[in-house]
Amino acid sequence: MVTAYSKMIIVSAPSGAGKSTIVKHLLKSGLNLEFSVSATSRPIREGEVDGREYHFISTEDFKKKIEAKELLEWQEVYPGSYYGTLVSEVARIHSHGHFPIFDVDVVGGLNIKKMYKRDALALFIQPPSVEVLEKRLRSRATDSEASLQKRLDKVKWELEFASKFDEIVINDQLEFALSHAERLVREFLT
Ligand code: ADP
Ligand code: 5GP
Repeated sequence: MVTAYSKMIIVSAPSGAGKSTIVKHLLKSGLNLEFSVSATSRPIREGEVDGREYHFISTEDFKKKIEAKELLEWQEVYPGSYYGTLVSEVARIHSHGHFPIFDVDVVGGLNIKKMYKRDALALFIQPPSVEVLEKRLRSRATDSEASLQKRLDKVKWELEFASKFDEIVINDQLEFALSHAERLVREFLT
């Protein structure tokens, strides 16, 4: 379901690559972006606020939203954990005259790109290596060992999607990655 014209930014990568860090920076960069708050069935983490990082809902409610066609796209990103972009978010952000920015998994990101084509800039955030990504995820210390393993199990598969994105941002030195992402978004939006 494609709504009225508006450019938008998609940021995808394996978990731990630095998507949230880069998205937070872009949101503060005066680019008129607004974060699309997804729905998820995963448990809320310490420090997260319902309605800010995600709309945290039960698996049952998530399935109801699928049936009611309230999701633009959705994925079971990890076994038992559902994530989806709400149609209502895109409409809400458009109504503010802002550009939506999506932090979504690689498959969801490419699905949104397919819907919006040239109106969407799809960025892939690439970690310097799987080993570095694992270290970052471990020092972030937000996930149980089981949740961490689910994330690590998918990394190599997710990295294979990189070339399908419009641009790849290598997140080795953070400052460099932030300015690279910011430059790409600024060029696309102006
Ligand atoms: P994602 O949203 O992709 O799961 P995060 O943005 O949460 O990833 O980053 C994972 C962890 O790595 C966080 O603790 C973050 O502060 C850290 N991090 C992100 N980028 C870098 C970087 N370039 N160098 C070192 N640590 C980083
Ligand atoms: P986390 O649990 O670390 O917040 O997110 C796990 C993964 O789910 C990340 O790759 C994140 O980008 C992805 N994700 C978050 N929201 C959505 C969404 O609405 N749709 C899809 N397809 N993936 C999402």
